[in-house]
Amino acid sequence: MSELLGGVETGGTWCVCAIGTGPDELVAREQFRTSEPEETIARIGDFFAAGPRIAALGVGSFGPVDPDPESSTWGYVTTTPKPGWQQTPIAPRLRARLDVPVVFDNDVNAAAVGEHRWGAGDGIASLCYLTVGTGIGAGLLIGGRPWHGLVHPEVGHIRIPHDRARDPFDGICPVHGDCWEGLAAGGAIAQRWEADPRELPDGHAAWELETEYLALGILSIVLVASPERLIVGGGVMERAGLLAALRRRLPELLDGYLQTPLLAERIDEYLVAPQLGDSAGVLGAIALAGDALTARG
Ligand code: ZN
Repeated sequence: MSELLGGVETGGTWCVCAIGTGPDELVAREQFRTSEPEETIARIGDFFAAGPRIAALGVGSFGPVDPDPESSTWGYVTTTPKPGWQQTPIAPRLRARLDVPVVFDNDVNAAAVGEHRWGAGDGIASLCYLTVGTGIGAGLLIGGRPWHGLVHPEVGHIRIPHDRARDPFDGICPVHGDCWEGLAAGGAIAQRWEADPRELPDGHAAWELETEYLALGILSIVLVASPERLIVGGGVMERAGLLAALRRRLPELLDGYLQTPLLAERIDEYLVAPQLGDSAGVLGAIALAGDALTARG
């Protein structure tokens, strides 16, 4: 085994820490609820301080974040609506405590890297990892690398058509109301139907509406970023039949506009489920840490 690496995914709900070099070579792993920043960052630090020595640490955090190494707020969670976490210097604090090189990105970019390296995106240079759970987020790899651009994509907050005659629900995004996440995340389903989404039966109207909203958002991703594969995961996607429904609806919305056999005949190879489950983010963080070490020589 080569030098050990650390990875941490701080998600909106769960924090996952691991030490190792890949999915089959993890020597330690711990998962706990993401609480307030002081306690959470201290607990992450404790995990790595107690474990075997790591050569570098990758951090994938819920966002929005500042991933720009040249910025004075590099490694911060910035404008998040999550209470207490605004302007939190998560990566700088971990670097100071553990005294190792730290590489930082958002949680969905990290998950995209993990699925690209070891999961459903193996060999696909341009891919999108989309998660539909408590919120909606997407990581984008272009040429095998996480895309940042201006800040980083915040796909969950794009606008999709909202037919208020069909769905008068105002949406739950604290910033935008009826953005994509506001209409289609798990929390939106729960509030709109006043039920735990897991308890809504398969034939419930919730799922036809959810299919439409997810397909509309995915349509925009396909048209803007042109990924070669879309990996769609998260708690909401555990609903049996939802992925299959998206595979039917997306080509209908595209209506033959993009001419490629992947969309026309092999959509089941284009819209796919993740393979790393809830370890995609933490494994991607480990991969990023390894890449950063390699780049340093
Ligand atoms: Zn929003």
